[in-house]
Formats: sequence, structure tokens, C-alpha cells
Amino acid sequence: MQFRCVTFHSTFPRCFSARPGAAERDIRRRSRLAAAFALLAVTACRAVSTTPSGVAPSEPCCLDLGRRIATEQRVGAIENRRFNHAQYWVALAPSLRSKALRTTPVGASTHGRALRAITFGSGPTTVFLWSQMHGDESTATMALADLLGWFALADGQRDAARDRIASQLTVVMLPMLNPDGAELFQRENAVGVDINRDVRRMSTAEARVLKAVRDSINPQFGFNLHDQNARTLGRPGNQRVGIALLAPAADVTNSFGPVRSDARLVAARIRAVLEREIPGRIARYDDTFNPRAFGDLMQAWGTRTVLIESGALPEDADKQRLRRVNVIAILSALNAIATGDFKNESADTYTSMPVNSGSAVDVVIRGASLVIPGQPPVRVDLSFNYDDALRQGRARVREIGDLDEVVAFDTVSAAGLFMHPAPAMLAEQGGKRWLRTGTTVQMTLRRGQDATSEVVREFGAKP
Ligand SMILES: [Zn+2]
Repeated sequence: MQFRCVTFHSTFPRCFSARPGAAERDIRRRSRLAAAFALLAVTACRAVSTTPSGVAPSEPCCLDLGRRIATEQRVGAIENRRFNHAQYWVALAPSLRSKALRTTPVGASTHGRALRAITFGSGPTTVFLWSQMHGDESTATMALADLLGWFALADGQRDAARDRIASQLTVVMLPMLNPDGAELFQRENAVGVDINRDVRRMSTAEARVLKAVRDSINPQFGFNLHDQNARTLGRPGNQRVGIALLAPAADVTNSFGPVRSDARLVAARIRAVLEREIPGRIARYDDTFNPRAFGDLMQAWGTRTVLIESGALPEDADKQRLRRVNVIAILSALNAIATGDFKNESADTYTSMPVNSGSAVDVVIRGASLVIPGQPPVRVDLSFNYDDALRQGRARVREIGDLDEVVAFDTVSAAGLFMHPAPAMLAEQGGKRWLRTGTTVQMTLRRGQDATSEVVREFGAKP
């Protein structure tokens, strides 16, 4: 059994400045944060076991419970994956009135939007979860809202798993770390910086807040919650990845010390549970050490860190099914940490996962003859991607030519047929026409070379 005393900074980190000249506000913010975390410090500074041992799970957990929470506690005010800071905190308000939750201002974004930490439980092991540091990656932010509804339940509505988490863990959530990015549904923050590449320079207000909260609570476990490219494939198998997991490397040698090894077992537990919810759709994220990324550095700083990346599932354009998967994943991990049962997982459950490897295109049309007026037809394959891989609105041409090795989610066999781009797809100069990659797709697949022949299928907006 390993004993560990969580240490806190005697002076609060002086890095909350969202804007130059905000020193006074900083001091006030720091005082509030320091006071709010004081209680946490008292409990967490006891000498405690970071790996509670000999505690067997008292009931099966947490697939069924997670499914139930995702349904019964679903925050209905958040209906799709595009919501902003104001909408989110209004949606959370009913849960945050619970005495079981403590909300702490921890700073502000570049544009001055409040960043808040929400704390549940008063146990000896501190777990830190932060979401949406990329503004267009909101799936886990939705799941945290649903879990907060469960944490907020009144006495008499609780169950054993919730009480166990409350007594064994201090769970600190920092949802929507990049609210300015969320406002425009873009990856970067308000000055165009990717916060997850800012860990060395700490040039962004949001990165400084994340680091300061981490330093103030010194969590034994951390969850770095993201959405990955929705077109990512897992290999072998070439299946579209629903959830990618990673215990990020803590150094360039990619070694597994005690901290990362524990994180690997927590990830293994998540995989084991999720294989029963989305079988075959879980993969491992690229584990190359990135010295600019928070997950890797969190691991190096001693926090057992797991990256959860939500990808895509069929028929899930607004990621509501993946939201439910996140609830199950996070709940299972929290419970396994609270019981210490993650130690019973096998590292092989982690290492045997398929691996994120390349990506598919949305559509490939194979073997058609491309008809550009004034030129002889050319036999080609043509691929295109929708601007939004999940909502499938506007699409753009990605590649034209021999695409035999390209994997697509939708393959159209068009041998013997003719592709007719609409005039709007063609650039024209000096009476000559070009079809270029990147052009918005607007074309028909027809039986003949003649532009009036029978239409087999249309792509994009109607010509
Ligand atoms: Zn991300």
C-alpha cells in the first residue's frame, strides 16, 4: 500500500490573469479560489492510500448504472453538440443548487467568460476532470452535466456507488475550459491558440487556469476529455472509432512508470466496460510523447492521466449516443478508482486495443467517367468529405484519380456510369474548364455521357 500526502502551494499560483492589467481582479479571484479549496486541502492532506486496496466492488458496476444515469439524469436543455457557455451554465443551474456540489470560480477565459470548478465528494483521493479545451469538442461536457445531475441527488435517492465515490474521492470537474472557442464552435481559443499545445509557454489564460487548478488540488487521477477526428479508423479492422483511450506518455522514451501504469489500468477498465456498450469501436490513441500537450505533462507531473477521445458512431450526428458512452466510461473509471478495483485489470486489455490509424473519407465514387464539357470523358475515382462529417451538409472534392486504397464510409460503385459536375463546380478561363479539388460538390451520376441522360444519383446541392 502506497501512502502519499497531497501537498498544496502555500501561496496561491499567480497565473490567473486573463488580460494585462487585471491584477486586482486576479487577487480577488485567487482569494476566492484559495478559500474554496481550503476545505479540500484539509481533507486531502491527510496521509491516505492512493490505491485503496482490499476493497472489492460490492455490486456490478457500472454499465447498467451508467445507462440509467445517462437516461434519467440527462440534462435535456443541452440537445445537440453545439451549445455555448451561457447555455451550458444555465442548464447546469438546477444541479448546482445541490448541497452535494461546490462551485468555485477559478478564473476567466480570454474574453472574460467565467471558468468554474465543481467539486463533489470529500474523499482522500482527488480526481480531476477537464473538458472541451478544444471549443468544438463538447461530448464529454454534455456527459459531465448528466453525471452532475446524479451527484446532485438528494438524500434518499442515492445509491451505493454514489456514496462510495463521495466518501472515497474528491471529484473536481472543470467543464468547458475553452468557452470562447465553444462560442464559435472552433478548436482554438479567442486568439487562435490551441490550448493543448500551450503547456510549455502558458500564453493563454485558459492554460494558466488549468495548470493552477491542477497545482492547487494535486490530483492523483486526471481525465483529459476530448473529441477526435470523426473519420478516424482503428486498425486492424478499419472500423470507425467510437472512443479512443490513452494513458499518455510522460517522457520521450514512452516508458511505463508507476503513475502511467496505473493510468493504463484505469483505461483498461474503461475499455472492458465499453466493449459491452460499443463492441469493437474502442481504440488506442497515438502515444507519441508531445511536450506541448497537457495530458502528457499531467502524467509527468504525477497525475495518473487518461485521455478519452470521443470519435463518432453511426446515426449519431449530435453525439448523443457518445454522450451516454462517456457517462458510462467516466462513471466506471470513478468507481474503479474509488474501490481500487482498477488494479485488478490487465495491462493487456489496454495494449490489445486496436490503434487509431489514419482516417477514411466520407464518400468515394469508383470507376465513373468524368464528363467536363469540351473534353473527352476521363475514367476516375472521386472522393469527397462533408464539411461536418456527422451532419453531412456541404461537401468538397478531396481527391480525383486512382483511389483503390482509399477507405470510405460510403462507397458508390459507378463503373459504366458518368459523373456530371454542375457548371458551378468548374472553373473557367479562356473558354477552358477545370475541376479542382476543394470545390463544393454539386453533381449528378448519369447513365450516359449526355447531360440529359437518366440520373442514377445526385451529390450535393442540385445543379
Ligand atoms: Zn481535443
